Amino acid sequence: ATPMALLVGTARGAQLGILIKGPQILESTRRVDTILLDKTGTVTSGRMSLAEVVPAAGESEAEVLRFAGAAESGSEHPIARAIAAAALAAVPVAEGTAPVAGALPPLESFASTQGLGVQAVVDGRLVLVGRSAWLAEQWAVELPDALERRQVELEAAGGTVVAVAWDRVARGILSVNDTVKPNSAAAIVQLKALGLRPVLLTGDNERVARAVAAEVGIDDVRAGVLPAEKAEIVRALQAEGRVVAMVGDGVNDAVALATADLGIAMGSGTDVAIEASDLTLVRSDLVAVVDAIRLSRRTLGTIK
Ligand code: ADP
Ligand code: MG
Repeated sequence: ATPMALLVGTARGAQLGILIKGPQILESTRRVDTILLDKTGTVTSGRMSLAEVVPAAGESEAEVLRFAGAAESGSEHPIARAIAAAALAAVPVAEGTAPVAGALPPLESFASTQGLGVQAVVDGRLVLVGRSAWLAEQWAVELPDALERRQVELEAAGGTVVAVAWDRVARGILSVNDTVKPNSAAAIVQLKALGLRPVLLTGDNERVARAVAAEVGIDDVRAGVLPAEKAEIVRALQAEGRVVAMVGDGVNDAVALATADLGIAMGSGTDVAIEASDLTLVRSDLVAVVDAIRLSRRTLGTIK
């Protein structure tokens, strides 16, 4: 295509809510045959809400939520926001007054491990919130059998479940729910019609991932994937000769976005994800991916 045609295509993209980093990117967009989609915040809204708190035997629900909420107040992760908001709302306040920031016990220190969980000191206690496998492997904190059974049930119902521990003892589990974005299923139908193969990629567990995939019509699911492994999956597909687009929104997607032949960030995503990407979708709607592919084919197909 002529430089002029590419510029026109880029301008047209902006009108469609697709910000294209450089005109030459339309060329890689046109060649894409495989599209990896992050789950949380990309296929789903990422606006999670707390569904259930299950305390361990002898623990109180309110305490579990309070400590988990305090620890999560240091994280921007959608799971963390849901838990911190619920904990804050549960703090009793005088009638008619809004919950106040800081009503939860303050964080004395905080650290997060991408795709696994958070660790914080709250009221002098080391509080952990995250994947139960991470608590077991990294911290030698095992879930009691009853909680493990409940976790399986909640996950089978589509919940994302995290474990809470302090003083090196598991204190409960929390289940949070997310919803699929209204346009995601329609976008997948159209991507398939354009000849692309969709793959769902997530750090969340297999049961939740399968439920979301079924809802939007994706057969190929890679669940329980750590942030670094997302990029490895991109490279493995490229090694099979596929031209890979990755769509994501999180810090945990950044390496995969940069590794893909075409990185696509949600406009609502983190700055790191946007910086690592070639395209940004202003409306954070997967239908814009369909628009981008059609646009690239039109721009580069007609003028060769
Ligand atoms: P996704 O790929 O779906 O965006 P992530 O890689 O961000 O998911 O997270 C994967 C898993 O790691 C979550 O399902 C959760 O179990 C755990 N996790 C990550 N961050 C947190 C956090 N702030 N609090 C609790 N658990 C977390
Ligand atoms: Mg995400």
